[in-house]
Amino acid sequence: MTRIRQQNVTAAQWSSNGEALGALDLTLPENNPFGANVFSVAVQRERLPADVFEKLQATLEGGEALDPSLADAVAEAMKEWALENGATHYTHMFQPLTGSTAEKHDSFFEPAGEGAALAGFSGKELIQGEPDASSFPTGGVRATFEARGYTAWDPTSPAFILENPNGALLCIPTAFASWTGEALDGKIPLLRSMDALSRSAIKALRLLGDEESQRVFTTVGPEQEYFLIDEQYFFERPDLIATGRTLFGAKPPKGHELDDHYFGSIPERILACMLETELEARKLGIPVKTRHNEVAPNQYEIAPVFENSNVGSDHQQLMMQVMEKVARRYGLVCLLHEKPFAGVNGSGKHNNWSMGTDTGSNLLDPGDTPADNIHFLFFCAAVIQAVNKHQGLLRASVANIGQDHRLGANEAPPAIISIFLGAELEKVFDAISTGEGDPHTPASFLELGATVLPPLPMHGGDRNRTSPFAFTGNKFEFRALGASESLAFPNTVLNTIAAEAIDELANKLEEKISGGTEMPQAVIELVKESYSANKQICFDGDNYAEEWHAEAEQRGLKNLRTTPDALPEVLSDQTVAAFENYNVLSKRELESRYEVWLEQYSIRANIEAEESFSIAQTMILPAALRHLALIGEAGVSALEGEARELVDELVAALGELKAANDYPDMEGMDWALHARDKQLAAMAKVREAADKLEKVVADDLWPLPKYEEMLFIK
Ligand code: ADP
Ligand code: MG
Repeated sequence: MTRIRQQNVTAAQWSSNGEALGALDLTLPENNPFGANVFSVAVQRERLPADVFEKLQATLEGGEALDPSLADAVAEAMKEWALENGATHYTHMFQPLTGSTAEKHDSFFEPAGEGAALAGFSGKELIQGEPDASSFPTGGVRATFEARGYTAWDPTSPAFILENPNGALLCIPTAFASWTGEALDGKIPLLRSMDALSRSAIKALRLLGDEESQRVFTTVGPEQEYFLIDEQYFFERPDLIATGRTLFGAKPPKGHELDDHYFGSIPERILACMLETELEARKLGIPVKTRHNEVAPNQYEIAPVFENSNVGSDHQQLMMQVMEKVARRYGLVCLLHEKPFAGVNGSGKHNNWSMGTDTGSNLLDPGDTPADNIHFLFFCAAVIQAVNKHQGLLRASVANIGQDHRLGANEAPPAIISIFLGAELEKVFDAISTGEGDPHTPASFLELGATVLPPLPMHGGDRNRTSPFAFTGNKFEFRALGASESLAFPNTVLNTIAAEAIDELANKLEEKISGGTEMPQAVIELVKESYSANKQICFDGDNYAEEWHAEAEQRGLKNLRTTPDALPEVLSDQTVAAFENYNVLSKRELESRYEVWLEQYSIRANIEAEESFSIAQTMILPAALRHLALIGEAGVSALEGEARELVDELVAALGELKAANDYPDMEGMDWALHARDKQLAAMAKVREAADKLEKVVADDLWPLPKYEEMLFIK
């Protein structure tokens, strides 16, 4: 194979149509309108009859159901707007249990006789679609012959137009349910959980003296990590194409030991790609804000400003599509796999989460004096209680096969869920729970020792980058999500378990108040009880350390290392109770998710195992044999032993993998355990032999691009 080792990376190559970057003027306001492709509130105001607009806004603000009589008017306005913007088709975009998005395009145009076509799009078509559901995973909720599924318009997530050089598509965010009404997607439970949390929080706020707030919204701000590699190498790696990660690859001499990449200056081609990605995102109304290099070579991060959980979750799905699409215009491929390169940091997605009222207050904002902030103490204590109780479920909510290489490995957060509160809050909660010490932390300033530099106000505590669930100023950051993951389920879990804990605390508060305790004092007592009972979940040390794993075990915290270990938490009695009590997911709906996710694990493991065998057998082994022949020809017998030994090791490992890949039909946990314990285990041995060979076999014979090339060519 002739591999081009030195890609000619020039501006002219950046865009696939051969135009240099200068063709894109990103500074022009008209080229940079935020939400230009969104059927936004402003567009609605302009195009809808005034009474329809007002009714629509009122239902959206109140989180109420839409009056179906409005649908025709909205559909008409949406259609006109879409046609003017070049759309020829529309789609109900939904999020099936595969974790990706699904779309089926329908044309606006219907034949009107004599060769004419009429653009039609009624309220009925806006509100409801009926895709054939039989091709989407349902986890046994329905038999395959019951193919009917419905998509239902979600008016709270704005419709938008996806551009394509050859036309445009109106996308209508929708929910997806079975004919019998069971949720088959990520959106329905997320919306239900937002309702549940709002009800619980409003009830609690009333007890806490807030008479004004009518609704509480949960918010999400994701920080997305990803790799960009040259597309040429991607296409030369069948493992990347089939599985999203490299199944082979020896560690390069240079990794990220020099710490020279994180926050480093962004390479020009990459920055050009980021700029266009952000432009596309802004057109779709995604409020992208931050970008920087990540720790690993060729790894980057992008973060939008937070939005309500539903819109934020939809935007995140869209964001990932935009990233993948735009990268190709620059001769790059965007890798969203959790662990594309062994031995190199993987990619996660930090899920910043909070709760805010419709009157504009963030319930997790401690203010300057958290010790005196009764609302904050109440809601923060509820989150601690919820995370402690449902730690296993939170771990399960981020489980997938890619994550198993990350969580629990020596990077990112561990598989053990714990909370980092930071020194200031820990001091507050400890003082309240023990009744000793001053809970206040005086404001302090960092003096930099040079008169020209201003003294910096200091945070109440340092950061802890190793914690899976960290308090970061006015929100909790759930850091254990995988890069490719949808935000929907982790946030559904957070909202549901928080709703439950808020109710538990509110009920106790009510009791105390009716027993004659004054409100602020009652909250302090409550926080004391709750924190004392749940503080085992709080940990401020190094989450990577072996000692922590031992201590966590002593504390009785769960350490669910792999997806098959974690997923049963989705069906535990306390999970089912919480989800049923709050009408978020029924037991049957939870069972269907469990089955689908477990099956996805097994299917993906099987694909990896078969791909691994194929690459090792048909690409790596022949290269090694040619190398052996080369040594034989040269007659340097000193070199022969090692190479032959490695080839023998590879052949033996291939035999084991072949046997592991040959198994009878299996289902459920049996299948997942076979995949994990037999197939993935045999794959690891094949890889070990192959990676050693990579360091020995003549470079020009090696059939795959190496880590050095994929990670360092920018
Ligand atoms: P850091 O993690 O470094 O503290 P930022 O403060 O910039 O970074 O926040 C990171 C992410 O957290 C951003 O996506 C931001 O929008 C989000 N975020 C900030 N406030 C909230 C909030 N109240 N709810 C949810 N996400 C939030
Ligand atoms: Mg962060």
